[in-house]
Order: sequence, then C-alpha cells, then structure tokens
Amino acid sequence: MKRLYFDYNATAPLRPEAQAAVVEALAETGNASSVHGEGQAAHRRVESARAAVAALVGADAKLVTFTAGGTEANNTVLTSHWSRDGRDARMDMLLVGATEHPSVLSGGRFSPGQIRQIPVDGEGLVRLEALESMLADATAKGERALVSVMLANNETGAIQPVADVARIGHSAGAIVHTDAVQAAGRIPVDIAALGVDVLTLSAHKIGGPQGAGAIVRASEDLSFAPLLTGGGQERLLRAGTENVAAIAGFGAAAAASMAGLAGAARLQRLRDAILAILGESGRKVTVFSENAPRVPQTLAIAVEGVSAETLLIALDLQGVAVSSGSACSSGKVAPGHVLSAMGVPQNVARGAIRISLGWDSAESDLDLFSTAWRRVLKHLPPGAVQAA
Ligand code: PLP
Repeated sequence: MKRLYFDYNATAPLRPEAQAAVVEALAETGNASSVHGEGQAAHRRVESARAAVAALVGADAKLVTFTAGGTEANNTVLTSHWSRDGRDARMDMLLVGATEHPSVLSGGRFSPGQIRQIPVDGEGLVRLEALESMLADATAKGERALVSVMLANNETGAIQPVADVARIGHSAGAIVHTDAVQAAGRIPVDIAALGVDVLTLSAHKIGGPQGAGAIVRASEDLSFAPLLTGGGQERLLRAGTENVAAIAGFGAAAAASMAGLAGAARLQRLRDAILAILGESGRKVTVFSENAPRVPQTLAIAVEGVSAETLLIALDLQGVAVSSGSACSSGKVAPGHVLSAMGVPQNVARGAIRISLGWDSAESDLDLFSTAWRRVLKHLPPGAVQAA
C-alpha cells in the first residue's frame, strides 16, 4: 500500500537536492575552520549554504549563524544579553505569543519571572492592543523587552501580523524576534519587509536534514551573546565544529524551497480538496484558525464525534500519516496549549488533528486519501468516540 505522508510540519521528506548535497559533503573530509585545501573545500560548502539560506529570507549572508536546529536557534536568541553598536543592550523581560512553539514558550535564557505571554484571539492571532499595553507597562517601569512572535503557527498554520508586532515593539525600544521555522519555504519571507531584528529557521521543515538550523539577523549592529562558547566558529556567535553535511543539505533545501514557492497555489488547492473530502463524511468538520491568514499547506481540523487519537490511528492503519496537535507533544492526550490559548472548548480540541503537505504532495494523493477516508469512516463507531 502506498502511504500518504501528510505531516510535513513535523518533518518534511528530504528533498533529493538536499540528499545529494549531504551525501557529497559526507564523502569528503575537512573541518571548515582548517586552512588546508580540505578545510577550505568544507568552508566553501558552508559559505555557499549560508548564501542560499540568506537568500530564502532576503538577508545578508554574513548575518546568518548556523545552529543544530530551530530549538537551539530559539534558545540562543531568547536572551537578555544583546549588544547594539558594540554597547550593552540588555533586555529586562521577554514577551512571547501564547501559541509559540515550546522552544520559544520556555523562554530560552530568561528566568521564568521575566517571561510574559501575549494573549491571542480566537483565530490564534496575537492581540496587538495587549502587546501595546504590555510594552507600555514595561516602559513605565523603565524596562526593555525582547518580543518573540512566530511567523506561522506549526499547528494551525496561522500567519501572525509580524510586521505590526515589529513596528509596535520598536516604538517601545524592544528587540523583535520571529520564529520563521514554519513559514520559510511555505510563504515568501523577507526579513526587511517583516521589520524584525532577528529570525530563526530549521532545515528539516523545508526538506533539509534534521539537526541544522539558523539564526538570521537584520543588521550587523545588533548582536546576541552566544549560547555555546569555546570556539571561534560562526563569527564567534556559535562555538563548535560546523556540521558541514547538514549545513550543505540545508543550503540545497533552501534553494529548492525558494524555487518551490511558486507552487503555493497548488498546495492550497490540495489542502482545500482534502477538506472537501473530510466534509463528505456528513459529520461537522471544524477548521482551526479558519478566518486567519494561513500558510497554504496546513490544515488543523476536528471531526465531530471523533477523538484525535482514534482518527490518527485509523488514518495510519489506512496508510495516511497525520499528527494530533503538534508532533513535539504527540503521545500526549491533553489538548495542546495552542488551541487552549485560542479558547477552543476542550471537547472540540480533543479531536484536533493536523494535516500538512509539501513539496512531494501530488494531485494523485487525493484519490488515495478519499479511499482511505471512506474506509476510516466505515470503522468509526457512529459518534461514540469523542473523549470526555
Ligand atoms: N519552531 C517551530 C514553529 C517549530 O514547528 C519547530 C519544530 O517543530 C521548532 C521551532 C523546532 O525546530 P527543530 O525541530 O529544528 O529543533
């Protein structure tokens, strides 16, 4: 049975271009910091990947710092230790969106007492007026904030008004970060147009290998204290020998996903067709963040009367891989923090599954999905499985 992989937001299949770049790099020896020919060849691979990753977000290549993934990138930038024009620019508190990925929500190097959550509305979009008043409170106390609001949500695909967040944040002297892990390669991302100071990326969400990520700054004037120290790599911003093969794969995936942005309309049509198939069940289908701008390839839904666990297992048995809530918290039966923050009732949230598509999704997937869904429906006891 051909399986359908509908879980790109957890990890995307490795793009052939990325696989070729990884294999090619693994076949060669060389530390990117070494001065000999082998080292210089590794260095060139890293620098060419840096240029490709920078291009994906419209940035200057020298402002890209490679990390071992999105989680490390987020933990690194979420620090009170920043400098502007070489002078200390300490941030006293951290304001994060309530629906952020756990690697942002946990606050990085800020202590729990310094972290506040910006509430979201029923569509999952941050309440800009709440951000304004939180920043006004901070200013009144003489405090500076680092603001972190993701570009696209990993569970619902909702696109946050990040340019507004940046404008509001900067008017209060904040440093503004966006976690663009789920937006890059799905929608055009331009660091200057967003107006943020720094953004973070992950290779495996765009068809690169797992275990590579990046921090991208908008300007050389603003810098963060490294999380990993003890080596001069990455212009002193991230110590440790670069993972040349993973970085090379990241670069190849960045270039390929940039070229693939033109296929967004196709993915949106596939997503909408999947929703239509789900609707043929005659059961009510709730779409989360339905009225928010969303990335084209993500669909978070609940089918009335069916728990997420039941649906996920039934679909898996029919050859369709989806996830319940976020993959990072899969295995956990309780409704996730994203839908809770949006005020989704618990009985509805318990049925939430996420379908996410990507570069290798095809029109032919629709027939297979339709067949699988009809089989799933046959085996679902009518209306009996909603978790209490
Ligand atoms: N940020 C978002 C929005 C994510 O979806 C994820 C992964 O699920 C991460 C950060 C973490 O990235 P990584 O898996 O590379 O550590």
